[in-house]
Amino acid sequence: MRLKIRMSKLENIKKQWKAIMSCMNCGDCGYAIRPAVGRFLTCPVKEAKGEEGWEIWFSRGRMSVLKNILEGKLELNKDLAKYVYQCSECGSCTEVCHQTHNPNIVLNTSKWIEHVEVWDALRRDLVEAGFAPLEHHAKLIEYMNNPGMRNPYGESKEKKFEWVKEVKGLSKTSDVVFFAGCTEPLRQKETLINLAKIFNAAGKEFSIIDDEWCCGSIALRIGDINSVKENVEHNLEQIKKTGATKLFAACAGCYRTIKKDWPDLIGEELPFEVINITEMLLDLINDGSLKIPETNTEAIKVVYHDPCHLGRHMGLYDPPRDLIKKIPNTNLIELKRNRQNAWCCGAGGGVKSEFSDLALEIAKNRIDEVKETGINILLTACPFCVGNLNDCVKIQNININVLDIIDYIASKL
Ligand code: SF4
Ligand code: SF4
Repeated sequence: MRLKIRMSKLENIKKQWKAIMSCMNCGDCGYAIRPAVGRFLTCPVKEAKGEEGWEIWFSRGRMSVLKNILEGKLELNKDLAKYVYQCSECGSCTEVCHQTHNPNIVLNTSKWIEHVEVWDALRRDLVEAGFAPLEHHAKLIEYMNNPGMRNPYGESKEKKFEWVKEVKGLSKTSDVVFFAGCTEPLRQKETLINLAKIFNAAGKEFSIIDDEWCCGSIALRIGDINSVKENVEHNLEQIKKTGATKLFAACAGCYRTIKKDWPDLIGEELPFEVINITEMLLDLINDGSLKIPETNTEAIKVVYHDPCHLGRHMGLYDPPRDLIKKIPNTNLIELKRNRQNAWCCGAGGGVKSEFSDLALEIAKNRIDEVKETGINILLTACPFCVGNLNDCVKIQNININVLDIIDYIASKL
């Protein structure tokens, strides 16, 4: 039976025509194993689905569906939306697609498909056609646009600034501005208190924005681009008022959104530099302001999980590692899958909020990898990764301490 559906103009996926049609059905986005370059499988969703690993769960199947849509043989629909949003937009498929097996040879086709851009385009067309946002996603966007909230957690505006009362040393005049985001102020306040502790120890100050709204990350990944514009305009106005020359974010999602999405949305470069907290802290150590005391104790082994929004999305692989290596009595051990090949935590792309069991199943795969090392301190640099990996550890009742690098450094001061 053919369902009566609302037609979308498919404006966004039409712009991805060349990328979609270049898929040659090789299947590396689902099956690639290349031990020589540290690649052990590609799609966290396909693996989490296990026996149920149907083509639509990974890139090859989605590309086939998209080809059929572009050729007019299939139409967007509500059922398709349920599959499309079960993708963490981790970008792992891009790292294998059209690539050679030799890390020293880069083919000119290797960047023909930027998968996250294709998935974003599809999500935007689904929203435009009225088949998305899905139930929980719609709630997050509603909260984000609520004048009394302006955050996707449904909390009051006032609550988001409670952490400020618990720290000292915030400046009203510094041109270095911290964008706190929503997740840490509302769900991981301790990390922000620790961040302030580190700055106090370094004798440095930073400013914050008086009325910061959600950066729009969640709505952008869901594909509701129109709901984000007001947030971006408001935040930019607020940041400009501070006279910021440098803005840093401790949330990987905010960092990606501000640095990559905001300039695209406003059609111009931002009038300030955007850096990640790991770069900021590394600078404080390198310029001698932050001194972390050495101890006589044996070095502690830690592993580092690359957040997708820092690594594959933004190419930020070295600063977090360089930072960890500067922490006295700490030995960084690499996980089996790291950098471009890192396994996603499962929380991104709206998966945690709409498909929490899937997010946990993916996290389990990552935690299993940590277990193999026998190391029980897992550092990362993203509140979503911290939250989802911690949820998984708690459910399994295992002795692995998942920490933001900020918290780990603060514990050494
Ligand atoms: S790796 Fe790329 S070309 Fe191969 S099936 Fe997947 S999307 Fe298509
Ligand atoms: S972005 Fe990640 S989760 Fe989505 S299809 Fe690609 S590998 Fe799978």
